[in-house]
Amino acid sequence: MRSPFVLHIDIDAFFAAVEVMLNPALKGKPVIIGGMPDERGVVSTASYEARKYGVHSGMALRTAGQKCPHGIFLRGRFHVYSQTSERFMDVLRRFSPRVEVASIDEAYMDLSGMRYLYPSVYDLAHKIKRTVEQEIGVNVSMGLGFSRMGAKLATEVAKPGNIFFLRDEKEFISNLSLEKIPGIGRHTLVILQGLGIKRVKELRNAYPAIWKRTIAPHIYSGSRYPDRHEPRTKSFSRETTFPEDILDRDLIMSHLAYLVDRLSVYLIEHQLYAGRIEVKVRFSDFSTYTKRMSLDFPTYSYNNMWKRALYLLDCLLKKKKLPLRLVGVKVEDISHQRDILPFVSLKTEKLSSGITDVKKRFGFSSIFTARELLLEKIYPVDRDGVVLKTASLTK
Ligand SMILES: [Mg+2]
Repeated sequence: MRSPFVLHIDIDAFFAAVEVMLNPALKGKPVIIGGMPDERGVVSTASYEARKYGVHSGMALRTAGQKCPHGIFLRGRFHVYSQTSERFMDVLRRFSPRVEVASIDEAYMDLSGMRYLYPSVYDLAHKIKRTVEQEIGVNVSMGLGFSRMGAKLATEVAKPGNIFFLRDEKEFISNLSLEKIPGIGRHTLVILQGLGIKRVKELRNAYPAIWKRTIAPHIYSGSRYPDRHEPRTKSFSRETTFPEDILDRDLIMSHLAYLVDRLSVYLIEHQLYAGRIEVKVRFSDFSTYTKRMSLDFPTYSYNNMWKRALYLLDCLLKKKKLPLRLVGVKVEDISHQRDILPFVSLKTEKLSSGITDVKKRFGFSSIFTARELLLEKIYPVDRDGVVLKTASLTK
């Protein structure tokens, strides 16, 4: 039988792991990244020691402080995490030319062409794991399967710190409960559960059409590495909780502009284009709204994204006459290439790439748009940007 050949690699408790690597005194301690326990905002990563106390990412910092009062709370140094992430990806690229970055601490690798160099994919997976752990200094979990979905689900089993080989992917996925499957929405899940369908195989037997449309395309379909162009959910987002609720539109706008700026630079550095943008707001009563729209064409330009983001923000601010506690922005429909019509002007694209070059040489803060400058009044600014109270760096 053919060996599995899609490897999924995920760094365990990434942000916390980097902090422990930089300060070994934290080893074995409950480390919680995201902010101080008396602050607003949420946990972005909890070390496995902190998870034992029930702390998890996305939890309010105050709740985390109650659950784990002796936890070591850190604000997080996001530029250090991105640098570590890049070194991590570089190590992976030494083993296979086909590395696909899935998020800051996660990648897929195609090992199918490697059997002449490494007769056993199992040995190769172990070797990659050892190399990453020695050179980067963080622990990783790995899943080896026949498809991206299979490999990723295998990593979940492997966590923390192990490798899980999926020998029979179809069988494995059939026995999983539906909530484990990425891409099945909560709404669908509730309906299916109401019908008594909890596992993948029950769905396949009772509703083969739904199974065929949702799950079958993602699992093992032959010996070929799943194509890059298959529909996948991929997005990047940035959001921040304000130190105090804000009613002033200009100030909200400047936060959003800064987050769009960060996303634009990220896209340019990774040579990616976004097709859609979404803005998220959370009002002081914790009600949360999002609104999204397509961009005119796949783009990384700050100006193109900003135009849409501002329109979306204004729509959302009309929902309630309350101050905001959080604003966020997400880009979706990410592509590596684009086909655009010849009459589309790329002026703002060139401007954004030029600005990114300047930021690369002289620091992120070396050049800001006027609307971002308001932030300097409320936050410290260093070379790497505005030091927001809670910054999230998500996939
Ligand atoms: Mg991880």
